[in-house]
Order: sequence, then C-alpha cells, then structure tokens
Amino acid sequence: MTQPPAAEFQADVLVVDDNQANLRLLTDVLASRDYQVYEALNGPEALRIAQSSRPDLVLLDISMPGMDGFQVCERLKADARTRDIPVIFISALSDTDDVVRGFEVGGVDYITKPFKFREVLARIANQLTLVRQRQEIEALRRQDRQTFESLSHMKNEFIRMATHDLRNPLNVILGYASMLERLTVTEEHRALMDEALQAINGNVAKMRKLVTDMLDLAQVETSWQFKPASVSLGSLLEKVAGNYHLIAEQKGVTLTVTPPAGDSTIVADANAIIRAVDNLVVNALKYTPAGGRIAVRAKLRDQHAIIQIGDSGIGIPPEDVSRVFDAFYRVKQASNPDIEGTGLGLSIVKAVVERHGGHIDVRSKVGVGSVFSIVLPCGLRS
Ligand code: ADP
Repeated sequence: MTQPPAAEFQADVLVVDDNQANLRLLTDVLASRDYQVYEALNGPEALRIAQSSRPDLVLLDISMPGMDGFQVCERLKADARTRDIPVIFISALSDTDDVVRGFEVGGVDYITKPFKFREVLARIANQLTLVRQRQEIEALRRQDRQTFESLSHMKNEFIRMATHDLRNPLNVILGYASMLERLTVTEEHRALMDEALQAINGNVAKMRKLVTDMLDLAQVETSWQFKPASVSLGSLLEKVAGNYHLIAEQKGVTLTVTPPAGDSTIVADANAIIRAVDNLVVNALKYTPAGGRIAVRAKLRDQHAIIQIGDSGIGIPPEDVSRVFDAFYRVKQASNPDIEGTGLGLSIVKAVVERHGGHIDVRSKVGVGSVFSIVLPCGLRS
C-alpha cells in the first residue's frame, strides 16, 4: 500500500473537532507525518488559535455545539489575518447541500466521515502544495514589482539627466558657436573668442564623457565580450596609478600603490579591470582635496584578489552609501557642488566586477575618507 507523502515543508495544521477522540486520532496521524498540529475543541477556540498562530491549513468539523464549522469558516474568511488560510471541512454531513454550503462559505475542500486517513493526508498535502505555489507566485510578483520600480527609477533618472546634463552643455555650445559666427576677429575680440572656444571644448568634453559612460555601462551590462587572460595584478595597478601620479602631484595629493606580495596572477579581462580601478582612482582624486592621501592596495586571499582604493577625501554620508553604485546617482552635499561627474562611474565599476563573479563595497565617513574594496575570484567564472 503506498503511503501519502510526509509534509513537503514544515506545515502547521489546526484541527477543529468537538469530539475529543476524533481530534486525538487526527492529531496523532498528522503529527506522525511531521505536521505541527494545533487542536481546538470548539469554534471560538479555533478562531483564537487561527488568529494568533496563523496555521497553514485548518481541518474543520461542521457539527459543533455553539458556533458550527460553517460559522467558523465565515469568520476566518472575514478576517484579513486569517482570510488566506485554506479550510478543509471534515464532516459526517454528506448532503450535497452541506457540501455546497461548505464551498460557499469559503472552504477549499470537503471530506465526509467516515474518512480514510490516506485520503485526508493526500487532500491536505494537495492544499499545502497550492499554498506554497501561491506564496512562490507572490514572492515572484514582489520581486517583479521591485525590479519594475528600480527600472522605472532608472528611467526617470535617465530622463532627468538627459534633459539637464545633455541639454545644458548643448545650449552652451550653441550659444558660444553662434557668438563666434557673429564675431569679426579683431584684437579686441580675441579674448572673447578664446573664452568661447574654451567653453565649447569644455562642454563637448562633458558630453563626450557622459555618452561614453552611458555606452560603457550599457555594454558591460549586456554585450561586452570579456576576454579573460592571466594578468599580473601588481603590474595592472602600477599601470593605472602610473597615469595619475602627475595629476595627483599637481593637485597636492599623495598617491601610493602597494601591489600584492609575490606572484599576483589572476584570470580576468585586463581592460575591464583597468577601467574599473581607473574609475575608482579618478573618483578618489576628484573627491580628495589638496593635502590628502590616496592609497591603492591589493592582496590575494583564499583564491580571491582584493583591490582597495582608499582616500582621505570628503567621504560619503551614511544615507547615500547604499545608493552610490546606482546609475546616475550623485551625492548632493555642500562639499562637492562644483565637482563634475556623470553619476555612472561606480555603476560601471560594479557591473565590471559582477561580470567577473566578484563584488564591491565601500566604507566611508564624511570628512575622513572612503575605502572602496573590489573582491574578485582569482580564476574567472564568466
Ligand atoms: P560621479 O561621476 O558623480 O563621480 P560615480 O558613479 O563615480 O559618479 O560616483 C557616484 C557618487 O558617489 C559621486 O557623485 C560622489 O558623490 C560619490 N563618490 C564616489 N567616489 C567617492 C569618493 N572617493 N569619495 C567621496 N564620494 C565619492
């Protein structure tokens, strides 16, 4: 004889029956199948337990003194806390009218006494599977809603950025270009012309940076064909930092690089990692005032490479820390109103690191500085 399966997941069942012997029997059988069982001998007790313990299912007798099973079910369905708990009637009443009424008041199934335990267990398991599937669908819906909200937020940010950050430089360029058109170049106009050319170049550079960052992010997130190869982490860091020693010196900031000790070979797309570390060093330079320090370090630990870019710059307020990796997010704080940026640098870094199977985080304190840490598996899973 095949046995119905034990509870597929740890489930709580409330059994309601005014007949003590029946109640015991059902409880024993359910407990032997790994269900957690609550018992109630009458309607009011059943309602109290259902509200406080929220079982996954109620097995409900109908003929009980005082409040009968139909009334109990109606009350359960009228209460938001217990509305979704499936109710299976288990009753000696076998009239079609009674069965129909059971479904009308909100029952999901109806078992007539005398019953076979196997059938009761199979029907319970069936309803619990439905409960679990409903919960899974609800979780997926919640996930979809979150994804939708974050996509919609990104879309709004994109529109805001595109209208402001792209239109403004364009207007400046157009304004200066039309002024140049009207100028007859005399000595007197020379200074004006230089100013116009400088504004045009500056704004074109700003737009080019924005467009490049947007394309890079889209590419890394979707179509970038990673070319993993063995690369020396030490020389990769030296290479990035080498590009910025002069700029750091001019800004009065000390830039140091501490490569990992010994062999520091990892498998990664060197260009992508260079781009990521480059972005972090550029940020450190942007957000660290003169007199500050920037330290680029790397070490290998437990089959992972840890790359840290630390600075003694303006820091990030705690309420912004979790959002700086979002596309287009820029911290609004008094200390950096004039520092230009696209708000895309860190999202590119995050996308690169995650495509390598790694992760990035930041520790930061306003006025003290920030440390960005990239953790990459030494062997690439792409
Ligand atoms: P941005 O182009 O604005 O620098 P990012 O995506 O690179 O864009 O960075 C997002 C925001 O995170 C920045 O606008 C800045 O407010 C903050 N941020 C990034 N790096 C640092 C840092 N090293 N120190 C302080 N704030 C930083």
